Amino acid sequence: MLTNHHTHSLYSDGSSQPEEYITEAITKGFHILGFTEHSPLPFENSFSFRKENKDEYIALMQNLKQKYNSQIAVYSGMEMDYIPGMSENFGKIKAEYKLDYLIGSVHLVRPENNSELWFTDGPNYETYDKGLNELFAGDIKKAVTRYYHQLNEMIENQHIDIIGHFDKIKMHNRDRFFTEDESWYVSLVSETLDLLQDRDIIVEVNTRGIYKQRSETTYPGLDILKQIKSLRIPVMVNSDAHKPHELDLAFEQAYSLLKEAGIDEVVYFKGNGWAFESLK
Ligand SMILES: [Zn+2]
Ligand SMILES: [Zn+2]
Repeated sequence: MLTNHHTHSLYSDGSSQPEEYITEAITKGFHILGFTEHSPLPFENSFSFRKENKDEYIALMQNLKQKYNSQIAVYSGMEMDYIPGMSENFGKIKAEYKLDYLIGSVHLVRPENNSELWFTDGPNYETYDKGLNELFAGDIKKAVTRYYHQLNEMIENQHIDIIGHFDKIKMHNRDRFFTEDESWYVSLVSETLDLLQDRDIIVEVNTRGIYKQRSETTYPGLDILKQIKSLRIPVMVNSDAHKPHELDLAFEQAYSLLKEAGIDEVVYFKGNGWAFESLK
């Protein structure tokens, strides 16, 4: 069964109308397509959902779900951006926007006692390096610790179904500042995985880094997938598509990594909850 639960349309920073992704997904043989725009944020930016489009978006999603009902299951989720002291309550947004499920992600890291934000995502490593130097005095251990602690805070304080691109903080590192086998990093990862296991949260295996050529592997990669297998944390493969043609990019690599990690089932949304599909 072909599924993608993480998609951005032009209602956040994607390229096209939602319907264009749906028709492309049907052509590619998808069974499930979930939209997850970036959640609204309390400051001007170029990527998140604009609150003034809320009513239009809710109506559009209801309409598209019905229109394509016999060909594909369309869901309306949201990729919630968690920033301590700035994000709105996730449950409130979920109800207001009539959403099916939530992905929780950290793209902007807020240092303690500071309202400036470290933008860790995006195409340029220069932005990453600048934030690292200016907000964390170049201390990568402190900065990455803050990223994982922000994830932990989100997991403990908000309701999410899926954790978005778990270790995307590695994207602009590329082994320049640390390697993922360093003990402090390994223990941060384990700590967050334990919380995910405890709350029964799904880990997405996000392929975007591969097809954007910003990462050699998925978020997360093989070593973490092996831990996920032993902790029995549920997983799913998502492309984080921002254009219709990206819907299934690098899926083969992701599914073969799952196999290599010994993971033999994935979860999917089925309208009123989550179900498992065997990969055997
Ligand atoms: Zn994201
Ligand atoms: Zn995304």
